[in-house]
Amino acid sequence: MKKIISVGLVLLGGLLLHWPSVFANEGSIAFVGARIIDGTDAAPLEDGVIVITDGRIRTVGPRSAVTLPAGTQQIDVSGKTIIPGLINAHGHVGGTLGLEGGHYNTENLERQLSLYARYGVTTVNSLGGDEAQGFQLRDSQYSADLERARILVSGSVVVGNNEAAVRSAVNSNADMGANFIKVRVDDNLGNTSKMPQNLLEALVDQAHIRRLPVAVHLFYQDDAKFVLNAGADLIAHSVRDEAVDQQLISLINDKDVCYIPTLTREVSTFVYESEPFFFADPFFLKEVEPAILATLREPERQSRMRNSSSAQQYKAALEVAMANVGTLSNNGVKIAMGTDTGPAARFQGYFEHMELQMMVDSGMSPLDAIRSATGVAAECINAGDIGTLEPGKWGDLVVLNENPADNIENTKTVDSVWIAGNEVPGN
Ligand SMILES: [Zn+2]
Repeated sequence: MKKIISVGLVLLGGLLLHWPSVFANEGSIAFVGARIIDGTDAAPLEDGVIVITDGRIRTVGPRSAVTLPAGTQQIDVSGKTIIPGLINAHGHVGGTLGLEGGHYNTENLERQLSLYARYGVTTVNSLGGDEAQGFQLRDSQYSADLERARILVSGSVVVGNNEAAVRSAVNSNADMGANFIKVRVDDNLGNTSKMPQNLLEALVDQAHIRRLPVAVHLFYQDDAKFVLNAGADLIAHSVRDEAVDQQLISLINDKDVCYIPTLTREVSTFVYESEPFFFADPFFLKEVEPAILATLREPERQSRMRNSSSAQQYKAALEVAMANVGTLSNNGVKIAMGTDTGPAARFQGYFEHMELQMMVDSGMSPLDAIRSATGVAAECINAGDIGTLEPGKWGDLVVLNENPADNIENTKTVDSVWIAGNEVPGN
């Protein structure tokens, strides 16, 4: 879809250097005639109108009830469906280039945030590996000329062998302005040792002294119970060792903590043992670099993964994880869509759509999955000004050709993506 620009604006703009960034989003634009799924519990609204003024949503309502401000640019989206921009509550941004880590810089951050944006993922909560350049991009994004995905940052994953070291690491991230404190509680299938419990308690204590929430990478149900009792604020992966029990469900709900399944993280550990189904999906192929595809197709590489015991253990863990998503969702736990994309071969943008599909395969309804990736995710990452299509929120939205409430796969029918009312280039 092309942005509609009035003749007068073009004439005026032609007189000014850099006029598109000055005028890209001045005044009001209105999306007219779409079905609107707003990211809240509300039923989809048919034949709706969304008005965005200076980057923020001004009005949402049925066509018959909305009066457009004078001079509004109208975009006809009849027959289409609008959802809020998707939020990935657990990603990593800026480090990977091709299939290689260690490339953290502003250019790579911007490239990846633009990639997420073209796929309709308009916010990424980066849970670790964040350096100064990521913090700078976070600080500069609350502006009406934004065209790439928003990022929240956690700084470095906290490690330390004693209490002083752990508290100091939390303070370093807090001093930089982190949104979350991230910690790993995992023995990597029995191959490493976990952070001792007394240090985890000190970490949570120090984070809360600094008024920051703690996001926990974990694998085992017992660890989930421990960190919840210690005051953790966000479960950043699925429990994958056993079926979740009533004690855990009650703990999560009593403490009002969100749970991020990251099912596609598990997929990435084994799926390249043979040719993945998505290597035939145009929605994947439109962004992937051919060299990466060629590497992942190497028979020697595939056979190494096939013979990897950890890959096969994670494959089994995925079954447990999916069953647990269904159980937790049925029991009212707040599930936030998150993928752990960013590391090599966890494809940013595409995997978020696969995650939504897998959440539905785990037992969630399409509308619940969409809420998990919009309104609920925003609440889970403490981002009050995005996530739903309501007045006052940033104008971050995705126009879809088909209705995702009918079939979650329709989130892939992206017509256009808008951030702060600006059309994301490249779709
Ligand atoms: Zn992660």
